[in-house]
Amino acid sequence: MYNIVLFGPPGAGKGTQSEMIIDKFNLTHISTGDLFRKHLGEGTELGKLAQKYMDQGNLVPDEVVIKMVELKITSNNSSNGFIFDGFPRTVTQAKALDQLLEKQGTEISGMILLDVDEFELINRIMLRGKSSGRSDDQDINKVNNRIKVYKKETLPVATYYDEQGKLNKIVGVGSVDNIFSDISEVIETLPH
Ligand code: AMP
Repeated sequence: MYNIVLFGPPGAGKGTQSEMIIDKFNLTHISTGDLFRKHLGEGTELGKLAQKYMDQGNLVPDEVVIKMVELKITSNNSSNGFIFDGFPRTVTQAKALDQLLEKQGTEISGMILLDVDEFELINRIMLRGKSSGRSDDQDINKVNNRIKVYKKETLPVATYYDEQGKLNKIVGVGSVDNIFSDISEVIETLPH
């Protein structure tokens, strides 16, 4: 069973690569950003709560995110494994994820960090904003705030996995297929 954290700043290509990974390795995709957008679209209480954070490019509180992920894991307990995309984004979330997986008798196999420089990230996000309809992709102030939040609150998660020998860095610039092939090579070496 593979449990993979696909990690990187906004615009690094996590969503695109996740789609390809789940197909090849038959994994369940858990994207917290997608889950929040779904709740938002359906107008649920959770969606309304998340909206004010998402609108500003800030993080939704840990306990809310963790509860949502827990539900998703327990409702897919016959899964072949999970790919976590956009989660964990804080060390508190990373620790909670370890506990959730331990309860299921499993653990994180490895973390893959997609490395993309800031200039490229901003270009990609603003370009994506033209077609995604995401308001947080269309406003340069929100984009800058998301990158700031990533550096301050999310980057320490990379150290957390590095200390466990689970961090694998991949260059996230180049063709989608080449990046996918580098990711696949790493996944095939992970314990599962
Ligand atoms: P994303 O699609 O991953 O860029 O997420 C969009 C927005 O959803 C983020 O800017 C946050 O406001 C919120 N969000 C997604 N995942 C998380 C998370 N793991 N922790 C806190 N907030 C999150």
